Amino acid sequence: MSRSRRLLTSLEALQDAHLITAQEARATAAVARTYAVSLTPHLAALIKAEGPHGPIGRQYLPDPREGIVQPSESADPIHDHPHTVLPGLIHRYPDRVLLKLVEVCPVYCRFCFRREMVGRKGQGLLEPDQFDAVLAYIAAHPALFEAILSGGDPFVLSARRVDAVSRALGAIEHLKSLRWHTRVPVADPERVTRALVRALRAGDARRKAVTVVVHVNHAAELVPPAVAAIARLVDTGVQVLSQSVLLKGLNDSEEALEALFRALTAARVKPYYLHQGDLAPGTGHWRTALARGPELMEALRGRLPGHALPTLVIDPPGGTGKLPLATALSSEGLKLRDGRTIPHPDL
Ligand SMILES: *Cc1c(COP(=O)(O)O)cnc(C)c1O
Ligand code: SF4
Repeated sequence: MSRSRRLLTSLEALQDAHLITAQEARATAAVARTYAVSLTPHLAALIKAEGPHGPIGRQYLPDPREGIVQPSESADPIHDHPHTVLPGLIHRYPDRVLLKLVEVCPVYCRFCFRREMVGRKGQGLLEPDQFDAVLAYIAAHPALFEAILSGGDPFVLSARRVDAVSRALGAIEHLKSLRWHTRVPVADPERVTRALVRALRAGDARRKAVTVVVHVNHAAELVPPAVAAIARLVDTGVQVLSQSVLLKGLNDSEEALEALFRALTAARVKPYYLHQGDLAPGTGHWRTALARGPELMEALRGRLPGHALPTLVIDPPGGTGKLPLATALSSEGLKLRDGRTIPHPDL
C-alpha cells in the first residue's frame, strides 16, 4: 500500500478512526469542504492517546469556528501574490527567495496562513519547465544568498526528487544557503529516512549551509520518533531550527511555551521564530491579542537559556516583511520598517 493511501483525508476517515464523533463530522462538513483535512497514522495514534481536544488533535481536526470569516481576514494575508515573480517563486527580500516546490502537505493545520493556496487548491509538484525557469531566475540574480524550499511541505517529495533539487541549487555558485521548511519530522517522522537526509546534502549542496526549519507548536509533538527524526538531521550536519505559531488556548501560556522551547532545545533544535497568527480566513479563534505574545516572551526571559528563546515576529498585512512584534507594537498599531504605523484588528 502506498504511503499516501494511509493518510486520513476525510471526515469519514476521521470518524472511522474514532477521532471525531458523528455530530462533530456533521458540524464541520462545510469547513471540510472548504479546507483540506489530512492526518498521518503517526498523528492519528497520538491524538487517540491524548483523548479528545488534546494539544495535537486541536491543531488538525476541523472546527466549526473555521467558518467564521472576519472582514479583516484575507486569502493572501501576507501578500505573497505581489511578490510572486514566477509560478512557485516568491521574492520579497533582496537576498532570499522562497520556492514553493509543491503546494500540498501530509497534514493540514487548521490555522494555516496559506490555507487558501495549499491542499485541494494547491498545485502538485512544479512542472519541470517551471522548475527550470526558477533555476534560471536564481542563477541570474547574484544577490541571492539563500533559497528557501517551502510550500506546502517539500518533505512530501521523494528522496530522489529532493536529491535532484539539492544538486540543481547546489550548482548555483552564489547561493550559499539552502533552507527547507517542513512539518514532516513531527507529522510523519518515519518519512525522514536516511536517504532523505543524505539527499539534503547531495552534490554541491554538501558545500552549502543546509538548514531545516521544523514547524512545531506544542511540546507534546516532540515524542521519541520525532526527536529521533530530528537527530538523524542534526547528526548529518544539517542545522535544525524551529518555527511555531502562537495559538490561543494551545500554547499562549508561559508554561506551554517554556515546555515547548525546552523540548526543542533538548532535541538540539534552535527555536527560531514564534509567529503571531496571520489574518488567514477563519482563524480568528486562534489569534491572541497583539500584546499577549510580547508579554509572554518577556516573562520567559531569564527563565530559560537565552538561546532557547525564539524571536516573536509578525508578518504585517501589506506584505512588507516580518517584524519583531515587541518593537513594532504601539498603542496605535504596528510600526513598519519605512516608519509608517498601520492599524491592526487584533490590537
Ligand atoms: C518569511 C519569509 C522569508 C524568510 O524570512 P526569514 O526572516 O529569513 O526567516 C523569505 N521569503 C518570504 C517570502 C517569506 O515570507
Ligand atoms: S504544514 Fe504549513 S503549509 Fe501545511 S497546512 Fe500546516 S501550516 Fe499550512
